[in-house]
Amino acid sequence: MGLWDKLLELAGGYESLRLWFVLFLGTGLIAGVLTGFFKSRKIQPKGFKWKIFRNEGIFTVINIATAGTFLGWASGWLSRNGWIVIDQSPVEWWVIALEFALYFFAFDTWFYWLHRWMHAEPVYTWVHKLHHRSTSPNLLTTASVNPLESLVNGGFVPLFLVAMTFVAPVHEGAMMIIGPTNIIMGLYVHSGYEFFPKWWNKSWATKWFITATFHDQHHKYFTANFGGYTTIWDRICGTMRPKFEADYEKLRSRKKVAAPTGNIAPTA
Ligand SMILES: [Zn+2]
Ligand SMILES: [Zn+2]
Repeated sequence: MGLWDKLLELAGGYESLRLWFVLFLGTGLIAGVLTGFFKSRKIQPKGFKWKIFRNEGIFTVINIATAGTFLGWASGWLSRNGWIVIDQSPVEWWVIALEFALYFFAFDTWFYWLHRWMHAEPVYTWVHKLHHRSTSPNLLTTASVNPLESLVNGGFVPLFLVAMTFVAPVHEGAMMIIGPTNIIMGLYVHSGYEFFPKWWNKSWATKWFITATFHDQHHKYFTANFGGYTTIWDRICGTMRPKFEADYEKLRSRKKVAAPTGNIAPTA
């Protein structure tokens, strides 16, 4: 019996494990609000606007109904017709890590250059401007994009899988991580909150990976921080906001203030 099975048995099966998870998240959220954890991490404390939030909701629904449906259909068609093959055989963990890393850096490159291209006219006005209506992102901003942009970004995974089918089909284990990565990263960078530690941009190991503040500043200032997963292309091309690291530090130096007490000012 593996460790996972033992854990499952201890928790009382999948159903109760799910219940524990929901309870854990719920308690964490309440504790976070009460202790001022979230408040101190809010990137733009006064950025929320109801009208923009409402529009984001509308565009999210339109986007998922059109681009989401099309991408789902196209991926299914490609799989049924042999253009996408997923390797179901068991495999060593490092192969899965390698396949994921390949996807991660390939998508980052794809996103950075297409994103920069979308900031040039006339593409900006016709396509990307919609996503930039949100100058202070929240979770809904993630999918509040022109469906054409969704096709460009969301189309990467099927294209990657088709290319890999000809070289070396991606394993099922890697697919389980690749699948949700874009959604989780999208939600995190648009969350409006910075959850990463203060040393993130100073450590040689972590400074290459973007944070919510990094993308939040792209929405606030428009002309810098184009990267989707990493800061690498922005560093190479000199498009990273010069004050990004200083601002990040300022934000993460805020003191926790217990809710609900008025506004919170940066301490630095
Ligand atoms: Zn942009
Ligand atoms: Zn964005």
